[in-house]
This record gives sequence, structure tokens and C-alpha cells, in this order.
Amino acid sequence: METVGIGSTLESLRAGLKGTAYAAGEEGYDEASRAWNLSAHQEPAVVVMAEGAVDVIAAVRFARDLGVGVGVMATGHGLGAPCDGGVLVNTSRMRGVRVDPVARTARVEAGALWTDVIPEAQAHGLAGLVGSSSHVGVVGYTMGGGFGWLGRRYGLNAASVLEADVVTADGELLRVSAGEHPDLFWGLGGGGGNFGIVTSLEFRLYPITAVYGGNVFYPIEKAREVLELYARWSADLPQEMTTAVTFLNVPPLPDIPEPLRGGSFVVVRGCYSGENPEDGEELFRPARMGIGDPVMDTFGVMPVAAMDAISMDPVDPIASVQHSEMLRDLSSGAIDALVEVAGPDSGSPLILLEIRQLGGALARVPERLSPMGGGKAGFIMNGVGAAFTPEMAEGVKAHLARVGEATREHQTGETYVNFMELDAAGEERVRAAYPTEDFERLVALKDRRDPDNLFRFNRNIAPTRDAK
Ligand SMILES: Cc1cc2nc3c(=O)[nH]c(=O)nc-3n(C[C@H](O)[C@H](O)[C@H](O)COP(=O)(O)OP(=O)(O)OC[C@H]3O[C@@H](n4cnc5c(N)ncnc54)[C@H](O)[C@@H]3O)c2cc1C
Repeated sequence: METVGIGSTLESLRAGLKGTAYAAGEEGYDEASRAWNLSAHQEPAVVVMAEGAVDVIAAVRFARDLGVGVGVMATGHGLGAPCDGGVLVNTSRMRGVRVDPVARTARVEAGALWTDVIPEAQAHGLAGLVGSSSHVGVVGYTMGGGFGWLGRRYGLNAASVLEADVVTADGELLRVSAGEHPDLFWGLGGGGGNFGIVTSLEFRLYPITAVYGGNVFYPIEKAREVLELYARWSADLPQEMTTAVTFLNVPPLPDIPEPLRGGSFVVVRGCYSGENPEDGEELFRPARMGIGDPVMDTFGVMPVAAMDAISMDPVDPIASVQHSEMLRDLSSGAIDALVEVAGPDSGSPLILLEIRQLGGALARVPERLSPMGGGKAGFIMNGVGAAFTPEMAEGVKAHLARVGEATREHQTGETYVNFMELDAAGEERVRAAYPTEDFERLVALKDRRDPDNLFRFNRNIAPTRDAK
């Protein structure tokens, strides 16, 4: 861990802030440094509760003067590496949103959540490219790519970014767009926050108010049948459909309704975002009717603002451990492996093992940075387990390793920035998120923009001189 002699410099930092700063041990410090994912522990030397770009600049300059690194956290849904000993910029007080209905854009401050954007955008019949949970921070999500149930139609949110205000490693505030600092603009679109702290972000919105979506739950015993059907059916879907097949072990919590509470299921879920949402009924029919009676079927037309109901992700903080791999396809060998590690006799402790379909507008565009490898994968697999005790964490990690092993020959070896596990084992995992030529360009950008690796508490792209 880095150590700091803080003393009076902290007082002068505080004096210049609109927000506040806490040193380790002070009241407010624990809350300010706690991540949404309770498995992610970090002990920054100082946390700055920023209330504007000026505070972010002050925090970056303070860290530079002390010779420590800088981390940034909006919600703590996706810490890449804990900010131990550094200066943590907490942006959760910066939640401003401004929608321009004519230009069809949103401008958000660094700490805005998708829940802040959705109502503002929907008031004008517009929607942003939210992920499976609207409680995730817009900027962090976008820095790692960002796709959800509109993904195959409209692509990554990173590809919808038009402009950003960025505090660089020199402590300067830059306006970055395709026309101004185009190198940084390219790197922001999936570079995982390696080149600066975004204080505000402008991105495109799309004219959509309703979708057809939901889940069809089958008993886990039907896992093989459902996966085989899903593999055949998903091979030929229009790009207005974004779908997944998910193994679910539903926790036995009182607020979860029967017959789902405490049960294990294999679920086909998805969303149709075409012009006429009702058309989704026909398009999803094979997945909903092909296997006999489901345990539950929630498909229907829903407002875009209600799309969280498709993934049912937890809202309140939880301790979780997660691991993701990209899969080439859903061949019969891949299905065998998945059923073995997540099917009825697998003993899986995971809450979910989800296989989301890629393609459509998520396909790689060479001019843009790709944060999910070279485009060889047809699907992305993500496993998540609860980890409230060290024993639970160990059990989940061991099972995730088993999932990784069993599916190895079906993996492309690539990763996706946003689904990378906490403390991703060094450079190799991060490198695997990018096509080789993009990674080389990212390292060159890091050499130019952050040669001291000030922004290191993330899915780190090390500058050449630090590379192992
Ligand atoms: C329940 C859940 C559901 C999810 N669903 C999806 C999904 O459907 N699709 C998807 O693509 N991802 C998804 N994710 C992953 C999520 O997008 C990433 O974890 C993302 O990094 C979270 O951003 P955050 O700001 O909320 O988190 P934080 O932990 O606060 O930030 C994560 C990282 O983002 C970077 N960052 C944050 N703010 C800034 C900033 N102002 N400037 C520069 N860099 C910054 C930093 O590197 C930081 O470490 C999900 C995660 C969870 C836990």
C-alpha cells in the first residue's frame, strides 16, 4: 500500500473544495470509500467528495503533489482495483442531467446514475443505452463499453458518446470530442477511465418509449433442452432483439414471490426494441412455447423505463464475486459444459450464470476502440455469486474457476472491460479485452497522457515503463 504524509496539505485541499475530503480514520471516511459491491474493500489515504470539476482538479493535483495514485468511484459497482493508499475521487454528489430533446442528447455529470437519466429522457420520448441495472453509474459504465437490452440494436453506449469534459493527469480540464483531442476521445470509448476523470459526458439518446421483453422460466431439469432450443433460435434473430439464456438460483428471500423463491431455473430473457413493440410477441414465441409449460412467463410490452424488470439485478449493495468469459458459440459441446457446471446436478452456488448474445450493432467497428476483444465471440458468459462470508466467497470463486475450466475450449480468450472481475489478475486479463492493435494504441496513449500511471486504480493499462 502507498503511504502518505498528509498533514497540513489536507487542510489546504479542504479549504479549496466545494465538497469535502476525509482522511483515513475520520468520520465520514468509511461511507465515502465504501463500494456498492461489499466484497470490494479499499483504504484510500484521502477521499474527496467532489461537487464539481474544480474539486476533481484539486484532488488530482493534490495526489500528484503527494506522489500517489488517483481512483474514481461513482457507485462502486465496478471497481477495477481497490484505491489503497491513493486519493479516491467520489463523484456520487455530481448527479446533474440535462437532456436536449432537439439534438437528442443527454449531458450528465460524473456521478449520475441511469435512474437519473431515464425519466428526463423519457419525458421527451427518448432513451439512453442503459445496462441491465439502472442503478449503475452512467460514466463508469460507458468507460468500459456499456451494453444492455438495447445493445444489439444500438450498440455500446461508448459508441454513442459525443463529448466529454476530462480532468487529465496534469490536473487540466479538457473538452474532448471527435474534433478536440481526438486521441483521448478514442481512448475514452472503452479505455476504462485510464486517461482521466470525466466530469461530464454527452451522449446520444434514441427515440424509443416501449419494448417487448421479459423472462420465461423453465425448471432447471430442462436446462439442456432449453439451451439447445435457444442456440438454434438465437442463431437467426434480427438485431432489434437482444437476448440471453440464464441459469438462476433464486435466493429464498421472503420478498421474492412463489413459485420462484428459492428455486433453480433456466431462463430465456430478452427484449425486442423494434418500431412496433407488439411484434415481439411473435418473435419470442419459439422460446416461450417450444419447451412445454414454463414455470412463469413475464413477457409483454413494457415501458423502456421498466427494463430493469428483465434482469432483476439487485438494487441494494451486496457482496458478490463474478467472472466472465467470451464464448465463440453455443455448440453442443459448449451446451454440455454449461449444463455440467450450472445444470440440475451441478451443485452450483452461483446466483446466476448468464450467456448474453452479442452481434448486431455490438459487432466490432475497427475505427472505434473495442472493449470486448476482436469480435470473435458470439456470446458473453457472466457468472455471479453472493459472497457475504469468506467461506461463501471461496465457494463461489472455486465454482467460477470450474465454470472457466469446463468451458475453456469454447472461449475466445477475450474479456470485456465492464465484466472484468475485481482485481483482474494483472495485465493479461486487461490486454485480452482489446484487439492487439487497439491495446498497442492504448499503451501509446497512456504513455502520452498519463506516463506516471496516476490513474492506476482501475482495469489498468500500464504505461510502457511500468509494463511487466
Ligand atoms: C448489478 C450489475 C449489473 C451490471 N450490468 C451491466 C450491463 O448490463 N452492461 C454492462 O456493460 N455493464 C454492466 N455492469 C458493469 C458496470 O457497467 C461496471 O461495473 C461499471 O464500471 C460500473 O460503473 P459505476 O460508475 O457504477 O461503478 P464504479 O465502481 O463507481 O466505477 C467503476 C470504474 O469506472 C471508471 N469510472 C467511474 N467514474 C469515472 C469517471 N468519472 N471518469 C473516469 N472513469 C470513471 C473507473 O475506472 C472506476 O473504477 C453491471 C454491474 C453490476 C454490478
